[in-house]
Amino acid sequence: MSRSALKDDVFLRMALELSRLGTCCRLKVGCVLLRADGGLASGGYNGALPGMAHCTPETCGPGMRCLHTSHAEENALGFCDGAVHTAYVTDEPCLTCTRALVRRGVRRVVFLRPYASIAEQERAEREGILAHFGVSWEHLDLHGQPTA
Ligand SMILES: [Zn+2]
Ligand SMILES: [Zn+2]
Repeated sequence: MSRSALKDDVFLRMALELSRLGTCCRLKVGCVLLRADGGLASGGYNGALPGMAHCTPETCGPGMRCLHTSHAEENALGFCDGAVHTAYVTDEPCLTCTRALVRRGVRRVVFLRPYASIAEQERAEREGILAHFGVSWEHLDLHGQPTA
């Protein structure tokens, strides 16, 4: 494995570890952010606001969109200042998080699981942003580990 492939593997695994702290019962998401110099900028997971109730199968069942958590990307961005360059996320970012990441300078997004149920309109909007800013959008499997 090349050095750059090893780094992708390590940071994606870190995001996967962080996702274990997610408070949504349907989907646990982790995110690791790197600065342009490759230094670790921040990490986060999807979570309810401090002290608020966690998700339940009633609020976040299969096919339902979670409305109770701040997304992992949003939290990771909130825990650091300044520009970031690369985002490793367990799950393909939504449109809102894509905008937030791009605003902070992200030019490369690496994710483990594609988000299949995204609406066509949302997907098109996201594609437009990625093309405009030249963001590299990469679906990556962990070495030796099947993706969900
Ligand atoms: Zn939830
Ligand atoms: Zn999001």
